Amino acid sequence: MIIVVKNNPDKKQMDNLVKWIKGLGLDIHMSKGDNTTVMGLIGDTSVVDEDLIRSLDIVESVKRIQEPFKNANRKFHPDDTVVNVGGHLFGGGHFQLIAGPCSVESEDQIVTVAKAVKAAGATVLRGGAYKPRTSPYAFQGLREEGLKLLSLAKRETGMPVCTEIVDVRTLPLFEDVDLIQVGARNMQNFELLKELGRTDKPILLKRGMAATIEEWLMSAEYIMSEGNANVILCERGIRTFEPYTRNTLDLSAIPVLRDLTHLPILVDPSHASGKAKLVLPLSLAAVGAGADGLEIEVHNDPVHALSDGAQSLRPEQFADLVQRTDVLLTVCGKERDK
Ligand code: PEP
Ligand code: MN
Repeated sequence: MIIVVKNNPDKKQMDNLVKWIKGLGLDIHMSKGDNTTVMGLIGDTSVVDEDLIRSLDIVESVKRIQEPFKNANRKFHPDDTVVNVGGHLFGGGHFQLIAGPCSVESEDQIVTVAKAVKAAGATVLRGGAYKPRTSPYAFQGLREEGLKLLSLAKRETGMPVCTEIVDVRTLPLFEDVDLIQVGARNMQNFELLKELGRTDKPILLKRGMAATIEEWLMSAEYIMSEGNANVILCERGIRTFEPYTRNTLDLSAIPVLRDLTHLPILVDPSHASGKAKLVLPLSLAAVGAGADGLEIEVHNDPVHALSDGAQSLRPEQFADLVQRTDVLLTVCGKERDK
């Protein structure tokens, strides 16, 4: 971090600043010019409150040279992280498909969809038990019963399961869940992130709908700094001025993240678009941009789905998507894990 000090700074304030920075365990490289003094901070600057320094009377400007995330940073961990979800590997060149309904609705529904997506090539079953809905009057999920039905579908198909946690108090109920999803709305629920960081469960961390890439990586940092390195990122679209799609899929996040972090990167084209007919083209685009996998909503009867029917694929549409993404994966020199 570089601090540019204003002309002729008050000596006492300057001494206080130096003392404060040294008190944080950092060294300072001072270069005094005719008009300005530049301070180069040496050491772990992740503890420094950049905005606070900027607000000081004697400070002209502050520039961060090093990213504020350490555990998620590729600079300190050049090799891709590979996360094992019930025997299926995410990251490190592997390509995985997570598929299933938005919500678990009944035994028949979840088992039917699980069998269909497995036959088509998905390796992990998704299904929401606790649903974070915009309206309190909308279907809130089968909750504990939904988790039980997911376990049942797991036993029937042998597929590991992925489901969203919305409340830290329910964590003990997630014992049989293989991949715990943190949804867009909870990306900055820091107490939840810290608690998940104290487990060794793989975590699927979706991007908040108004989160910058750095904020998203700082949320990953919350989980990782508590000791859990099993984090998978999932781009699911961000809120923009465009109302035609539910969100705007930020495809550039994939290559940007590839440089910044070693964590696996998935894309969810279902929530990104809100429209079933856009799921295939966005999936192909995500594969082309280098995603490590996709999370896709599939329902056996989308018209009567209790949530997100408009963006859900029918099983046969999903099977077709898998075949088309396979072709593109081959062109990209990759192969879907089976
Ligand atoms: C979901 O996956 O069902 C979901 C609610 O996603 P998001 O948090 O990305 O909106
Ligand atoms: Mn959904």
